[in-house]
Amino acid sequence: MQLTPAFAPRLQGLDLSALDRDSAAACGVNATSDIEYVNDSWWQFARDNGARWAEGEHGLGANLLAVTPEVLRPFYRDLFDRTRVRSSPVVHFYECSSPELKRQYGMRLHPLDDGCLLIVHALLSEAPHGDEAFPALEPRYRQGWGSVVQCAHCRRVQRVAETAHWDWVPSLVSQARWPVSHGLCQPCFEYHYRQPPELPSSPLPRRPS
Ligand SMILES: [Zn+2]
Repeated sequence: MQLTPAFAPRLQGLDLSALDRDSAAACGVNATSDIEYVNDSWWQFARDNGARWAEGEHGLGANLLAVTPEVLRPFYRDLFDRTRVRSSPVVHFYECSSPELKRQYGMRLHPLDDGCLLIVHALLSEAPHGDEAFPALEPRYRQGWGSVVQCAHCRRVQRVAETAHWDWVPSLVSQARWPVSHGLCQPCFEYHYRQPPELPSSPLPRRPS
């Protein structure tokens, strides 16, 4: 666990050792979304997120919104702000797959005092990709300006000529062969980012009083 002295009072009453034992990655952010707490699972989570979550960029002092792909930033800024004014947690489901495995996560956002948030990322499912895998053909995926456009959510890659088509191209997820810019494919936009959902969630572990 890493925790700033300023943030420690925000987590008072929570069983931090239970959060450290948990396989779910947790981080705490202040009112301006700077990271002030991470649990032990946070770094494994960062590694599992691969190129998008290079280790060292997501430690204490980093701004969680600043390290979020730009295309997703307005959504998460809104979700964080909406959670800050609530008294109960919010859940958001998202996908973060590796080249080998399709992974679904649940993000639980717990409002704390003074605009702070505790955000817990739990792995919900992990399975080999069922999608058709496409080879990394340069003319099909590399845009005129040199980048490939990857969905910031599902990591599929947009075709140059048929922009409504986004393909699962494992070798472009595992290697930075060409520069990557982020977009959102239509299904991800419709199902995950059109409106922040608000659902009830399980409580945090508390120390016995
Ligand atoms: Zn997508």
